[in-house]
Amino acid sequence: MAYQNDNIFAKIIKGEAPSYKVYENDDTYVMMDIMPEAEGHLLVLPKEGAENIFDISDEAISACMRTCKKIAPALMKATNADGLIISQFNHAAAGQTVFHLHCHMVPVYKGQKRQDHARVQGNPEELVALAKEIASYIE
Ligand code: 5GP
Repeated sequence: MAYQNDNIFAKIIKGEAPSYKVYENDDTYVMMDIMPEAEGHLLVLPKEGAENIFDISDEAISACMRTCKKIAPALMKATNADGLIISQFNHAAAGQTVFHLHCHMVPVYKGQKRQDHARVQGNPEELVALAKEIASYIE
């Protein structure tokens, strides 16, 4: 399937749909996941229109990983998490539900079970507060 320009993440990047933004640079956009698997669950989006690992450019996927690396310390500081999972799904069979490539950054808390993928809506006030706090630690 070819990349669809009107997917929700493309709209968010273009400012046509709302998000809890944490960070943006020329190549990437970072926001809170609205159905977090754990407190502080972030999504890192390359701005390039690509569906998955099979059609994204080397430059855009590199930029995405560079942003993950930049944001990771701030995310850990803001959440006091014990660990961090970075993952990326390709095709529906692998669990992909939004077809604009993105990396999940999911903090892990010792002894705490994560929510199911894309199931439980986060609390808007908590998402706003966390987005602000994480952003404040980005160097
Ligand atoms: P995927 O299943 O494609 O790897 O991940 C899509 C993720 O996007 C899910 O974790 C889901 O909770 C999240 N999500 C779906 N719609 C929206 C949205 O409109 N805004 C934000 N910020 N996250 C979304």
